[in-house]
Amino acid sequence: MQYITIINCYQKLERIHIRYPRTINRYCPKCRAHKLHNVTVYKKGKERMLNQGRRRVERKKKGYGSFPKEIFHKNAKLNKRALPILECPDCGKKQYSKSYRVKKFELQEV
Ligand SMILES: [Zn+2]
Repeated sequence: MQYITIINCYQKLERIHIRYPRTINRYCPKCRAHKLHNVTVYKKGKERMLNQGRRRVERKKKGYGSFPKEIFHKNAKLNKRALPILECPDCGKKQYSKSYRVKKFELQEV
C-alpha cells in the first residue's frame, strides 16, 4: 500500500514503525458509498475485577496444589498488535481495518 511508510526493516522484513493517515477514503456498507473515514487506534478497555474468569482463577488459587496456570517468564512476541478503526462521519458505522504487529504505530496528517 502506498500510504504506509516503512522506516526500518529487520532481516525478515518485519515492520517496526508504521505511519497511518488520520483520514482515509473507504467504502461504507451502510451508506453504500465511498466516504472519508476518521481513523482511531483500538485501545484495550479497563479490566473488571469481578468477571467470571477472574473469579474462577481466584477460586482455583485458593486451593491446594499447583497453580491453575504456569507463571510466564519468556515473552515470545515483543511487538503489540495495532488495530486501526475507521469511523464513517455520516452514519457513525465503525469498521476494523487490517491490523499490524509493530513496535510503533503512528497516526499522521497526509
Ligand atoms: Zn456511512
